[in-house]
Amino acid sequence: MASEERAIAGGDWHPAGSSRSVAARLVDRSGRLAAVPEAGGTPLAEAPADRAEISARVGSIPRRITFSDGSVFETWDNDGIDRYLAANGRGGAGLVHWLEQFRLRLVVVVLAAFVLGGAIYRFGVPLLVEVAVRVTPPVVPELMAKGTMEALDATTFSPTRLPEAKRREIADGFARIAALSPRGEAGYTLNFRDGGAIGPNAFALPDGTLVVTDQLVTLAGDDTEMIVGVLAHEIGHVELEHSLRQLYRAAGMAGLIMLIAGDVGSGVEDVLVQGGGLVALSYSRAAEAAADRRSVELMAKAGFDPAAIARFFTLLEEKLGDRSGTSMLSTHPGTPERRKEILDYARILSGQSAPDRQ
Ligand SMILES: [Zn+2]
Repeated sequence: MASEERAIAGGDWHPAGSSRSVAARLVDRSGRLAAVPEAGGTPLAEAPADRAEISARVGSIPRRITFSDGSVFETWDNDGIDRYLAANGRGGAGLVHWLEQFRLRLVVVVLAAFVLGGAIYRFGVPLLVEVAVRVTPPVVPELMAKGTMEALDATTFSPTRLPEAKRREIADGFARIAALSPRGEAGYTLNFRDGGAIGPNAFALPDGTLVVTDQLVTLAGDDTEMIVGVLAHEIGHVELEHSLRQLYRAAGMAGLIMLIAGDVGSGVEDVLVQGGGLVALSYSRAAEAAADRRSVELMAKAGFDPAAIARFFTLLEEKLGDRSGTSMLSTHPGTPERRKEILDYARILSGQSAPDRQ
């Protein structure tokens, strides 16, 4: 045996294309790799180190060293092979590096999957809601409103008992602000109803149908301007399509995809057309704030007190504070912050400084 022989690893040698195996050792002989029988004797295979193909380390799977004659030396001693590769500056570190890269890539892919999943819920649903709102033909909000009004008239509402003169006064004020909305006066229908169980309330359906209850008018007393401010807020909800958005958000991802694809199942259709739930919808704080600002803008433009709706929230809290479970306060929460924002915005629109805001 040559004196420069260095043992690398023990294992088995297989001739090319044969399942026969010979117990052997892999050795380094002055830069040449050789498989020598365990029992000693002439090498079974030999090749310059850079011509032998060494498989990459994958877990604890045996490494294969393939010689140029096609014979293979197989070993479980992964560490021995790695030590040899590292000592010869041949990819040992590179292999470890590759493995680390592989693990890193795996972590990145898994993380990306989580982030994407989160993003779909964070941004996908709002995006689909916007698409659904855009592709909704006008007949859908009309059907929803018609269904809702029929359901409410059959179950909850009675004809209004307000004096004709009072209704005219409110309708005149309403016409002034409705005319300033992009939809125009013809884009809205104001309905008076005895609200029955739903009490003092005002709401808008997505097609521009507005309802104000006798109870709300009574609550407001002589302050018709305040009622108009509330109706201006409802116009804001219609303009900004809040109820459609809220309904579509409630439909969720699957419902929205069906809706946009035009595959509206009977369940979805029931929700859309019955729509009794429309009235019970509560909007987000952001939607309420946007509708409040719209009220301030429309009221200012029409020459009314822009902050009239703030008076209404004060009144609600004073008179309905203990019965906050009822509809108007739960669907239109009037917090002091909200009132403050209305007053601040009204001041800004009037050109006065608003010290608490930039
Ligand atoms: Zn509102």
